[in-house]
Amino acid sequence: MVGTLCGMEFLQPATWAEAVAAKAAYPQAMPIMGGTDVMVELNFDRHRPEYLLDLTRVTDLAQWAPENGHIRLGAGVSYSRIITELGGQLPGLAMAARTVGSPQIRNRGTAGGNLGAASPAGDAHPPLLAAFAEIEAESVRGVRRIPAAEFYTGVKRHALAPDELIKAVLITPPAGPQQFCKIGTRNAMVIAVAAFSLALHPDRQEAGTGIGSAAPTPRRAVAAEQFLARALAEAGLWESRGPLPDAIGRRFADLVADAAAPIDDVRGTARYRVHALSVMARRALVWAWNDYREAG
Ligand SMILES: Cc1cc2nc3c(=O)[nH]c(=O)nc-3n(C[C@H](O)[C@H](O)[C@H](O)COP(=O)(O)OP(=O)(O)OC[C@H]3O[C@@H](n4cnc5c(N)ncnc54)[C@H](O)[C@@H]3O)c2cc1C
Repeated sequence: MVGTLCGMEFLQPATWAEAVAAKAAYPQAMPIMGGTDVMVELNFDRHRPEYLLDLTRVTDLAQWAPENGHIRLGAGVSYSRIITELGGQLPGLAMAARTVGSPQIRNRGTAGGNLGAASPAGDAHPPLLAAFAEIEAESVRGVRRIPAAEFYTGVKRHALAPDELIKAVLITPPAGPQQFCKIGTRNAMVIAVAAFSLALHPDRQEAGTGIGSAAPTPRRAVAAEQFLARALAEAGLWESRGPLPDAIGRRFADLVADAAAPIDDVRGTARYRVHALSVMARRALVWAWNDYREAG
């Protein structure tokens, strides 16, 4: 199971049980799935781990399946497959996947790898937050499910223990519309300047949100979610599917912008990011609400 590559020990488990055992034996080992983040780190010599844990032979990770009312998305399912196989069942995540990198990156890159990298700019995070997804982590000590909102603990940091691996993401297929918006400096192959995702959950009369690239971690705009759910309920709009009052859209957008804590960097200023978020929030709500009305 152990070989050597450019001075790094290479662990190549063939099964999930072997992978979890290898991570327990070598907690410092860096997992590699699609490699679209890991190889950049290695090629630029930003990081040279002692051990690489190659997960590409673990076929379980590349599967998805319906399970107890949600979709169990293996950590190794590529963005391309999310788009082609799950566009109808996970529309928010599929919209985000369509904006990732290039076809080559989408063929290799995975939502599991996006979670492992935990970049505040990762595109999978806003729709996972908005859909109230859970991340299934496993080690030889057992399995646990981490709500997406508790997964991101700092800039490029996550809640996994050193001996844990991400096995899957559990996402409930939507009872209502989902949207994802991303602003970049060009149309493709671009890291988000800011991103926003919205999911309407009419079955529970709730709204879910996810903000990307505008805070140290991806995060929800909880006050905006609560305001929107309450405003729609008080106006009887969940049932009537009537037109959305402008005031609701404006207040929702303001609350989303208030939830951001961006920085100035090479991609954009903090001020621009806050403004962009309020515009994206309002647009996403109008689009989602129109979809909801049409579906009714
Ligand atoms: C040219 C280019 C363009 C890109 N464009 C975008 C973009 O538009 N949007 C975007 O969000 N990202 C983009 N990325 C970044 C990258 O493609 C994504 O983050 C992708 O989701 C990483 O997935 P992967 O499977 O390749 O991860 P890998 O590179 O294999 O791993 C990434 C991280 O996750 C860890 N990891 C992997 N699998 C597991 C697991 N099962 N359990 C625990 N940890 C794990 C690894 O150790 C590593 O820290 C781009 C990258 C490149 C090179």
